[in-house]
Amino acid sequence: MKMVVCAGCDSPILDRFLLKVEDRAWHAKCVKCWDCQGTLADKCFSREGKLFCRTDFYRRFGTKCGGCSQGICPTDLIRKARGRVYHVACFTCLLCRKQPSTGEEFYVLDETRFVCKDDFNRQQQQH
Ligand SMILES: [Zn+2]
Ligand SMILES: [Zn+2]
Ligand SMILES: [Zn+2]
Ligand SMILES: [Zn+2]
Repeated sequence: MKMVVCAGCDSPILDRFLLKVEDRAWHAKCVKCWDCQGTLADKCFSREGKLFCRTDFYRRFGTKCGGCSQGICPTDLIRKARGRVYHVACFTCLLCRKQPSTGEEFYVLDETRFVCKDDFNRQQQQH
């Protein structure tokens, strides 16, 4: 019988419980995220022969957030401004840390800094 070698650790798979991922065989324990080492029980993503959990896959390969430069997961809540995409948590007022509610106006100072309308008006009045 031909020996099956695990794509994760390169050692033979002797137990019956092997998993097929990307047409390769893996020990169940070796199917884990390259970044966080979390086990990938239900769903995993692969790139360049490495496996990732959903979160880490999108953090590495997803659209990058204009605020924190981390990738954005499809499940993350996002804001768009000036053609860039931001995590909701990264799109906060520079001064009061408030997050804009839907439709609220925010002023973009530069690519990573925003102020809410209240703070913007307050600053204008000081000039
Ligand atoms: Zn293995
Ligand atoms: Zn992970
Ligand atoms: Zn972000
Ligand atoms: Zn503010």
